[in-house]
Amino acid sequence: MTDICLGIIGYGGMGAWHHKFLTESVPRIHVKGAHDVRGEALEKAEAAGLIAYPSLDALWADPDINLVTIATPNDYHKPLSIAALQAGKHVVCEKPVTLNAAELEDILAVSEETGRLFTVHQNRRWDKDYRVVREALGSGVIGEPYFIENKVQGSRRSLHGWRGHKQNGGGMLLDWGIHLLDQIMDLIPSSPVVSVCAHLLSLYTTEVDDNIKLLLRFENGVSSLLEMSTNCLIPAPRWHVQCGQGTLVVENWECDGKILTLREEGEMTWEDDIIYTAAGPTRTMARRPAYTMKERPLPEVAVDLTEYYNNVADAMEGRAELIVKPEQALRVMRVVDMLFASAEKGHGLACRI
Ligand code: NAD
Repeated sequence: MTDICLGIIGYGGMGAWHHKFLTESVPRIHVKGAHDVRGEALEKAEAAGLIAYPSLDALWADPDINLVTIATPNDYHKPLSIAALQAGKHVVCEKPVTLNAAELEDILAVSEETGRLFTVHQNRRWDKDYRVVREALGSGVIGEPYFIENKVQGSRRSLHGWRGHKQNGGGMLLDWGIHLLDQIMDLIPSSPVVSVCAHLLSLYTTEVDDNIKLLLRFENGVSSLLEMSTNCLIPAPRWHVQCGQGTLVVENWECDGKILTLREEGEMTWEDDIIYTAAGPTRTMARRPAYTMKERPLPEVAVDLTEYYNNVADAMEGRAELIVKPEQALRVMRVVDMLFASAEKGHGLACRI
């Protein structure tokens, strides 16, 4: 048996995913058991070969368990994380780590006191579409970005189960919003967010937001529009990034897309006459001549999500720093707090986060 032995709290959709993923792909972490408040979920865990702990105390009392993954509805993340840390376990918490920044600060104080690690499962930092954007921007081939659009547009309308309830920390901002905010803030780690504006609509839910647009401005001059919908039958590209020397589009999760950059040798000249387009006369918005641009494929990237848990294991063994750092999660949650405040006030807000 490996030295790293995991207990899962909340054996629903994501709890079972963590079990399967670790068993198949990260053999150095042994998944020993699970606790859930539902008898059915405990039976499912047992049928999948796990010890089903009937109570939290039974899980805390198992000396083999040194790591806990929390995969319950969002409102339980804070109390369960604190209890696990106090029981001497290291903690991986599902996203959104908490409902607000103050709750996360409370967890981090206990992590500090107990000397146990605390991290968040921000798995979408390993999504291929995100890595393609990160790689392309890092290569410098399209210059510095100034507008980054990061969108996930579904069409199933309502939100499933507890995700529709405010008390459980439901809603799109806390669900997919957290992923897209984590991506954009990982992309721009050191320039503060200086203003936010949130449009949170509740089209098919009564308690929480379900179709949302978030606008962020960073001090370095980058603006980012994040959008999540549940009623969009014709989605916009997953990523649309405008930079000084070109434009990048990633259409979808499959990473179809392209980069267009400006050719140095093919400088554009302005026509003396106005240009007649299908939508009438214009010079400014007429299509740029093709000879002034160069099409490039999106960069090839290798992504390996096992890096996430392997890093947690390395950090537990004192051999690495956590990749998903608590202070990064706190920065995201502080922006989330501002976004909710912006939506409530109905206008944008200045900040420095
Ligand atoms: P789910 O409803 O499928 O499962 C939640 C489970 O938690 C249920 O079995 C429920 O009985 C159990 N539970 C509820 N309260 C509990 C408690 N106090 N103690 C122990 N068990 C409890 O939900 P899900 O889709 O698996 O989501 C769980 C978490 O995972 C959420 O925080 C969600 O945001 C997150 N999630 C993350 C991703 C990702 O890609 N990182 C994807 C989906 C969900």
